[in-house]
Amino acid sequence: LVKAQGVTKSFHGNQVLKGVDMDVHAGEVVVVIGPSGSGKTTLVRTLNHLEPADGGSIEINGQTVGCKAGPQGRVVALSDRDISLQRRNIGMVFQRFNLFPHKTVLENVTLAPVQLHLMTAAEAETFGMELLRKVGMAAHAKKYPHQLSGGQQQRIAIARALAMKPSVMLFDEPTSALDPELVAEVLAVIAELARDGMTMVIVTHEMKLARDVADWVVFMEDGNVVKQGPPESLFGPDAEPRIKRFVQSVS
Ligand code: ATP
Repeated sequence: LVKAQGVTKSFHGNQVLKGVDMDVHAGEVVVVIGPSGSGKTTLVRTLNHLEPADGGSIEINGQTVGCKAGPQGRVVALSDRDISLQRRNIGMVFQRFNLFPHKTVLENVTLAPVQLHLMTAAEAETFGMELLRKVGMAAHAKKYPHQLSGGQQQRIAIARALAMKPSVMLFDEPTSALDPELVAEVLAVIAELARDGMTMVIVTHEMKLARDVADWVVFMEDGNVVKQGPPESLFGPDAEPRIKRFVQSVS
């Protein structure tokens, strides 16, 4: 479903991604871990073209992200409109929840599908309430974001992304802005989505998520994927010393 090949990205001459390959199959949860500054966030942002990659290719659902085949076999960049169309299929949850402060919880969830004419207001409300029940927030539908805890706001942000019925969900450190006691409720929602078979790519420092929810773990260091495999192989007794050191440093 997601195929990244040889992805490179530099900021001001500083190469942050040095040729990253990643494959995510439908229904799979891939968790990306690694030291601070290793390029995890940049990788996940290139997947939906929030950071256009400099080189390599990214395909989601068989479509090349950010470009298309042009005349005479040339590759041409997509217009902003076409990029927005591509992104509809890709849910994104950020470290900061970025909810609309003057909209209610339910309005935050229904806004995009209604504005984009994907659903009528009534359909979006029915589906929105279903999603709020799924993230355990239905009782708060009429509240405003400032009346909620960070963990509750992040659960709304997840429901908002799901409202577009994406084929893949990307999470960029979804719990790192939360107080420690609020992390578990967000992890529980992510674990439930995994049980439902949602395809997800999750950048996180939460080793519990990598151990318990991931089908596949990608370990990045200095702009490269240095190791990937099922959690047992990365976290088991035979794990590489540098991965063991990293896991100890964040646990
Ligand atoms: P962390 O775990 O601390 O979030 P990370 O592995 O997600 O780190 P990135 O956020 O992808 O790493 O950053 C990798 C490098 O790229 C860092 O050195 C960072 O300073 C740099 N970088 C990221 N985004 C930008 C940007 N927009 N402009 C300039 N440099 C950037």
